[in-house]
Amino acid sequence: MSEEKLSFQAEVSRLLDIVANSLYSNKEIFLRELISNASDACDRLRYAAITQPDLSAEDSDFRITLALDKKAKSLTVADNGIGMNRGDLVANLGTIARSGTAAFVEEIEKTEGSLGLIGQFGVGFYSAFMVADRVEVSSRKAGETQGWSWVSDGKGEFTVTATEDAPARGTRVTLYLRKDAKDFLEAARLRQIVTTYSDHIAIPILLEPDAKADGEAGGETGGEAERMNSAAAIWTRPKSEITDEQYKEFYHHVGHAFDEPWLKLHFKVEGVIEYTGLLFVPSTKPFDLFDPTRKHRVKLYVKRVFITDDCEELLPSYLRFLRGVIDTEDLPLNISREMLQHNPMIAKISNAVVKRVLGELKKKAQKTPEDYAAFWNNFGAVIKEGLYEDSGQREVLLGLARFRSTAGDGLVSLADYLGRMKEGQESIFYITGDDFDSLAKSPQLEGFAAKDIEVLLLTDPVDEFWLPAVGAFENKPFKSVTRGGTDLGRIKAAGDTAAGTAADGEVQEQAAGLNALVAFVKLTLKDEVKDVRGSERLTESAVCLVADEGDLDIHLERILKQHGQLNAAAHRILEVNPKHPLIRRLAERVGESGAGEDLEAAARLLLDQARILEGEPLADPAGFAKRMSEIMARSLSE
Ligand code: ADP
Repeated sequence: MSEEKLSFQAEVSRLLDIVANSLYSNKEIFLRELISNASDACDRLRYAAITQPDLSAEDSDFRITLALDKKAKSLTVADNGIGMNRGDLVANLGTIARSGTAAFVEEIEKTEGSLGLIGQFGVGFYSAFMVADRVEVSSRKAGETQGWSWVSDGKGEFTVTATEDAPARGTRVTLYLRKDAKDFLEAARLRQIVTTYSDHIAIPILLEPDAKADGEAGGETGGEAERMNSAAAIWTRPKSEITDEQYKEFYHHVGHAFDEPWLKLHFKVEGVIEYTGLLFVPSTKPFDLFDPTRKHRVKLYVKRVFITDDCEELLPSYLRFLRGVIDTEDLPLNISREMLQHNPMIAKISNAVVKRVLGELKKKAQKTPEDYAAFWNNFGAVIKEGLYEDSGQREVLLGLARFRSTAGDGLVSLADYLGRMKEGQESIFYITGDDFDSLAKSPQLEGFAAKDIEVLLLTDPVDEFWLPAVGAFENKPFKSVTRGGTDLGRIKAAGDTAAGTAADGEVQEQAAGLNALVAFVKLTLKDEVKDVRGSERLTESAVCLVADEGDLDIHLERILKQHGQLNAAAHRILEVNPKHPLIRRLAERVGESGAGEDLEAAARLLLDQARILEGEPLADPAGFAKRMSEIMARSLSE
């Protein structure tokens, strides 16, 4: 049959370029990647065969076979798993299916120049091109008769051809090794790599003697083939027998991960329901953490047989950073996807596992707060989703939550916050926004800073959603400093000195002038703001915007607008600082001369200033520039 030439997806080409030219010294990981793929392929067929036994009937002993051919300078990795047809080959070995691909390639490009950290990113199948200048894949999908061959030198293109020379079932990957990679033709070298990285693989990995390495791999196994791994599912083995290295390699395999696990949980539960779990929390943020599907990544096994990596009810979305397996004795092997839905057994396992994981996180938070902070910085935004999704665990999750605050650079817990509340303070104050630096400079914080009242600085979009759902912590309501009144007057603080009181007295005196100014500004800006009022929360700035008690928080409104979920803005309240020299002067001017064109311009400039402070676009930038220029010109000519 004729050969078809196809191009790699652009990202793959860029990736292959990096891979082929990489100075990465740990090239041996290519074998771990290929073995990992082969093992997944066997797992997938084993599961498919539960409902369609014909698929694996002819050969149900799953295995991975390595074969060396010193003459041809090739190494073959073969499996009798699910296999790939033409469509699969093109889709799987021509593109990168994972979400966040572009970010992923960019990240590699960034780090590759300096450190060659390719091993941290998992280039999967494509890592074959670190050691080979030509790769041939031939495959026959379980249940199909036609075999297919995929060939590439990793330079932009690959060919796909129908072939008779494919394994009876499964996939055979042959690497023609580069000159600088000939050490992988040594059996001893392969043994060492398999023991290091792939011992945990639960099906046998066999090494065929060289004489047989001529295309039969993946077909019959020769009696002389040497078994290279222990092939026992790692989670079934006693903890004491498993080394940290072995745990780590399993984590890399099961999680498609390349970092150190931050936390490992290995447990066996016996009793009414029996199950074993081996779960890991990564130490770095996976690229697809915020993928819209929010799928968790824990695989479900039944009696050591892989069932699915797509059992939604096994774990809640807010624990989707977990990697690993849950293996239960109590479900039938032939369980279908439909039977897994609303399955009471799964629900019970899920509940218990969630409790266990959260309990373990709590211990980490107490024992090693700094280490926990690293975890929280990676996954806190995901955990917070649980605050509104899982009301059953809400108290526990609030206990686990950490925040940046105006009290310092570190993370604080809500318990810390309560402990520092001031006399008369009834609420937990917070402000939400896009980043800490601009938040910390928000004018709305000035009054709180003056009284040394701590404010939580929240920058995760999810904060806007859990806060209204949760409402309060230990009966103290959460209150945004950019919404409604502040109650600042009622809170006593160490900073409340005589000077402060005197200033308040002055404010009383000027109340009349201020009222006139407020009325004037309100009239001028009546189409743009909901209200204008004197502010309790400002000490330095002249103005700020706040939302009315019942209205959307300013930051939430911005998020909704960015996502096209909100068109009209709720009008804000403009607060003016009665103690600010500018406001005082304006109040005097309104008293002296009433309305006037320059006062109107001043009112508009006040609103524009408040918008700029809020990081918002101006409604009329040209008008702003004109008014500003006029005022500057006037003051310069005075
Ligand atoms: P990953 O394994 O991280 O998804 P890879 O680039 O290693 O990425 O592989 C891409 C896809 O190709 C896999 O997800 C799988 O669907 C398919 N694949 C790779 N190797 C095999 C194999 N030996 N048998 C069947 N499918 C395979």
